[in-house]
Amino acid sequence: MSETIFSKIIRGEIPCHRVYEDDRVLAFLDISPLSEGHLLVIPKEAVPTVDKMSDESAAALGRVLPRLCRAVIAATGIQEYNILQNNGAGAHQAVFHVHFHIIPKHPDGKGLGVGWKPLTLSADEGKALATKIAQHV
Ligand code: AMP
Repeated sequence: MSETIFSKIIRGEIPCHRVYEDDRVLAFLDISPLSEGHLLVIPKEAVPTVDKMSDESAAALGRVLPRLCRAVIAATGIQEYNILQNNGAGAHQAVFHVHFHIIPKHPDGKGLGVGWKPLTLSADEGKALATKIAQHV
């Protein structure tokens, strides 16, 4: 279990701009938004990263995520958005309670900036790596 500021928000000890809540999931506005409508969607289960989530939490969050995206679209008028999910300090995670960002991309450019530096994947490497990962699923 990991106690963070988000646990305090879930318990109502710290205020937030609440958008949605059910037994397993809470969504609220990010306090330092990258753009208007930037939401955080969190499981009530206090785990740091996606790989630690229970199937029940993951299912509950996944079930409501598209509905929350539709709500952000309807409320802000944006057409495009990113879903960002960071796991680990080296991957830019600052709050160690798993969370999904919904970040609207506004026509003025406000939103998530992405630095994407692709490598190459040979057929042989791809075959070996996919097989190795598949063995662990
Ligand atoms: P990450 O880098 O993915 O861990 O992002 C953590 C996010 O949590 C940041 O975008 C913060 O602005 C946001 N955040 C931190 N504290 C609060 C808070 N009290 N209420 C709402 N959002 C918060």
